[in-house]
Amino acid sequence: MKLFPPRTVALTALLGLASLTTAHGQEHGAHVHGEANISVVIEEETVSVSVMSAMYNITGFERAPENEEEEAAFAAALAALGDGAQLFGFSAAAECVATDSSHSLPTGEGDHDDHDEHEESEPEGDDHHHSPYRDLVADYVFTCAQPSELDSVEVLIFSHFANLEKVDAVVLAGATQVAQELTPDKTRLDLPNS
Ligand SMILES: [Zn+2]
Repeated sequence: MKLFPPRTVALTALLGLASLTTAHGQEHGAHVHGEANISVVIEEETVSVSVMSAMYNITGFERAPENEEEEAAFAAALAALGDGAQLFGFSAAAECVATDSSHSLPTGEGDHDDHDEHEESEPEGDDHHHSPYRDLVADYVFTCAQPSELDSVEVLIFSHFANLEKVDAVVLAGATQVAQELTPDKTRLDLPNS
C-alpha cells in the first residue's frame, strides 16, 4: 500500500499562475462560440459544478433539431449532459459520486406547446434571439467522502462538446478563488485545496 503526500508544492505554484488567466473572467456566461464557462464551488464534501455554454459548442446548431442527424446530435447531448460522472473526473482518493444534476435544455417531453413556432426563422441582424436551444446551463452536484484528497478535476466535456475550444473555469473553495483556462489539450483543473 502506498500513501501519497498532499500535493501542496504543486498547488502553490499553480495558484501563482492562475491569476494570469482571468482576462475574460468577467464575461461569465457570455454567449461565445467555441468558449464555455465553468464554475466549481467546493464546500466541505459537496462540489457544485455549473456549466454555461452556447449550444453551438455542443451540437453545432441553436434551434430545435430539424432532421434525423440533428435529432441524433441533440439526443446525444442530452444523454451526455445527464451523466455528470462522464463530464467530470475527480481525484480517485476523494471518493466523489454524482448526487444531482439538472440542465436547461428542452427534453422533448412536456414541451409540446406552440411556443417554438415563431422561433423557426433565422435571427435577422441581431446576433441571436431568445430560444431554449441557444444556451446551455447545466448544474451538477458531487459528494466526496474524502474531500481533503480532492486536488483536481478532469474536465471531460471537450470530448462531448465537439465545437468547444476553450473553457474559462473559476474555482471557489472557502475564501479562495482561482481562475484557469482549459483547452482540449489541458483538461485538468487544479483545485486550491491543501
Ligand atoms: Zn450562438
